[in-house]
Amino acid sequence: MPQTKPLIIGAGVAGLALAVGWRQAHGHTPLLCERLEASAHQGFGFLLLPRGLQALGSLGVDTNRELEPHPIEHTRLVTPEGKTIAEHRLEPGTLALDRSRLLAVLRGRLDGSRLLEGRRFETLRRGAAGRVVAVGFRGGEEIDADLVFGADGAVSRCRRALLHHHGEPWMPGTVARVQEIVAQVSAPALAARLGHGMLKIVAPGAGLAVGLLPLARGRLVWFVQFDTERHGWPHAARPLPFLETLLQSFPSWLRQVIAGTESGLPHHWRPLDLDPPTRLVGPNIALLGDAAHPLLPFTSQGVNLALEDACMLRDLLRDTGDSAAIEAGLRAYERQRLPLLRHYMAVGRGMAAAFLALGPDRGLLPVAP
Ligand SMILES: Cc1cc2nc3c(=O)[nH]c(=O)nc-3n(C[C@H](O)[C@H](O)[C@H](O)COP(=O)(O)OP(=O)(O)OC[C@H]3O[C@@H](n4cnc5c(N)ncnc54)[C@H](O)[C@@H]3O)c2cc1C
Repeated sequence: MPQTKPLIIGAGVAGLALAVGWRQAHGHTPLLCERLEASAHQGFGFLLLPRGLQALGSLGVDTNRELEPHPIEHTRLVTPEGKTIAEHRLEPGTLALDRSRLLAVLRGRLDGSRLLEGRRFETLRRGAAGRVVAVGFRGGEEIDADLVFGADGAVSRCRRALLHHHGEPWMPGTVARVQEIVAQVSAPALAARLGHGMLKIVAPGAGLAVGLLPLARGRLVWFVQFDTERHGWPHAARPLPFLETLLQSFPSWLRQVIAGTESGLPHHWRPLDLDPPTRLVGPNIALLGDAAHPLLPFTSQGVNLALEDACMLRDLLRDTGDSAAIEAGLRAYERQRLPLLRHYMAVGRGMAAAFLALGPDRGLLPVAP
């Protein structure tokens, strides 16, 4: 029996985690094709919840030793005047992590020659019974594959290819109404003041909030969530002047931190508000991470679910002896995963709606229940 030729599209958290898991289970690194070069912008940071921590542990990553995490014990929501609106304790074991460090650690576990950068996936070629036989990239390159994993993020071409094959719309939704501008800065005094707490400053009734997440080494991630219907959109290349105007009613120390950010750094995320997925797999293709389930930023679940997806695929595809075993593993993944993903996508919408109305409960929760 010839060895399976798996190919992973996208070397973000989900794709790299699956490659690490595949190597654990099968002893070799699958081919990973990523559109960006390693020198590209690698993101800022996120909350790793106990479920994500457990998944990383099962991938053999010693988070405390390798990732320099910063424990986050609680969140506090305050008004711009400093009045506390709510406080929440987070699940014990919740950590703030630097995204680029996580990617580097996962990459370090792989045979680097199997990671092909500068490969932008475009099309799938299918053979008998709709099975994928090759993956096509911009520029015309084609690589044979008999098992394909789409881990190409929220605006996933793999999702498009999968759904298109079944005659379904690939983007059943819109760009989300609440958008986010985010950056990471060095602010040791403020990070020390925040300690092990995440702070969110919310302007009641304004569809506007600023979050501060401390990381290790005196760094922190700041993020601004804003209702585009009320506040419009920043000029693509100039988010800082947009924020200066937007945050007039916020404390001056906060505006100084944001204004002190290196000008090219802040990133404007345009999250998608998609309907829950109808399918995650075909006979020899599966979606994982944001490609399977782009989540609204309120949930804080994206990276955690991506890591879990990867571990679940690893566990369900230990037997790749024949195409029937592979298809059974993929179907089991879809069956187990879909209900949970639908739950988080619905909760995310509820949290976004509550944020817009400044509801008393879900919009103010730090993490999707
Ligand atoms: C550059 C970047 C920075 C981020 N920073 C943060 C952050 O600071 N905080 C946070 O909470 N979330 C961040 N995210 C999102 C977060 O990583 C994901 O929500 C979550 O971790 C799920 O990971 P994922 O691997 O499914 O998706 P992603 O992390 O989005 O990874 C998808 C990967 O696929 C690649 N890709 C996309 N299209 C193609 C294609 N056609 N062909 C080949 N490769 C393709 C992308 O370049 C990317 O490397 C960031 C994502 C990216 C891409």
